[in-house]
Amino acid sequence: MLVEVVTVGTELLLGQILDTNSAWLADQLAKSGMNVHRHTKVGDNLERMTEVFGAALSRADAVVSTGGLGPTQDDITREAIAEVTGRPLERRPELVHAVTELFSRRGREMPLSNLRQADVPQGGEVIPFRIGTAPGLIVPGKEGSPAERKRLYALPGVSAEMKEMFTRAVLPDLLAKMQSPLTIRSRELKCWVSESLLAEMLAPRFAVHAGSSPVTIAFLASEGHVRVRLTAREAPEVVDSLLDVEEAACREILGDLVFGCDDDTLAKVCLDLLLAQGWTLGAAESMTGGKVGEWITDVPGSSQAFLGSVVSYSISAKTDILGVPSQVLRDYGPVSDPVARAMAKGARACFGADVGVAVTGSAGPTPDDRSAVGDVFHAVDVQGNVTVTHSHFNGERRLVKAFAAASTLDLLRRCLSGMSV
Ligand code: ATP
Ligand code: MG
Repeated sequence: MLVEVVTVGTELLLGQILDTNSAWLADQLAKSGMNVHRHTKVGDNLERMTEVFGAALSRADAVVSTGGLGPTQDDITREAIAEVTGRPLERRPELVHAVTELFSRRGREMPLSNLRQADVPQGGEVIPFRIGTAPGLIVPGKEGSPAERKRLYALPGVSAEMKEMFTRAVLPDLLAKMQSPLTIRSRELKCWVSESLLAEMLAPRFAVHAGSSPVTIAFLASEGHVRVRLTAREAPEVVDSLLDVEEAACREILGDLVFGCDDDTLAKVCLDLLLAQGWTLGAAESMTGGKVGEWITDVPGSSQAFLGSVVSYSISAKTDILGVPSQVLRDYGPVSDPVARAMAKGARACFGADVGVAVTGSAGPTPDDRSAVGDVFHAVDVQGNVTVTHSHFNGERRLVKAFAAASTLDLLRRCLSGMSV
């Protein structure tokens, strides 16, 4: 449980009174096992108070404030809390009665301004006063937001009143909340793009969650995809809505770089797209040695769309089985745009498929005389429309082959869903 303390009063800023309230509160909170990362002092100014309460509530699970609950013009804690939680002030008849009664018992005429102490932000709870005249407040965060389960506790500035209310009403409420078990839940967005680009694109989300946010973002790279793992640690009733918000924000930034979530694979997404069109697929693989076919056939039911793959490793396999023209191979070399193009066409023709996919490249580690290690060309032929892309991968042979296969499937996904490449 993370708690922030806010003490309100211009006199605190001017050094006219010493802020003993925050020291006392911090001591009490720490003794009860709660973490306090910040104390903030703010003057009696609506704009600055709203800003301070908003920031504290966004960081912490609960905010305890003191001061500014009195009847005078400069006591505006109520207004600031109403503003920050989006909960308009309502005058509570039972409080009007209590305040009026207190004055009549003392035989004094009540100044009209004292009625402000009967105003409570909508949905807030009152901590009735036992000493003094200022009731305390317990106000939840903005309705419908992740902050809704958080609490802003507003206590009077007068230390004796503040201590009495804190012990009676605030501490028991905080302790009850602390016992509520937190749930940890994750979901993953899957992409095929470098981790460094992901990190750059998602930097604003990392900034939002810097510090002690319940949401964390992590990247996990493997051969066929990079996972963006979103994890939230929160009360069971809100953990999913936090993840919903984060997922939407990340998807907005990443757009069509996200190919799926959780158990999706590039191969599965491609097969779903093929099945949706009623199309069949044939493949031609050189440097990947059958990896594209392996990944596709890992998906149950792939036989409904996948007809087969030619592992056309040698020059003769490219010419004799796929019909890649010898002249093209001679002119451009086996690792080239025109050869990848001809291989995709050949795969389509060879299997009588609607779609052909092909990959040719140099996996290394020994460079050949016509292509650099890590150079890869990918091609997709959708009913005669051919798209070719070029990639370059660094790393050991096994990884370069896997990256080449994943990029080939990502190109297939883009072509099948009409995205730009
Ligand atoms: P009141 O009903 O007395 O007006 P309030 O909630 O409006 O209470 P303030 O007006 O901010 O509180 O402060 C009232 C008095 O409480 C101050 O004059 C000061 O003596 C004391 N006080 C306020 N804040 C603190 C603090 N942080 N530390 C110590 N004393 C404080
Ligand atoms: Mg006051």
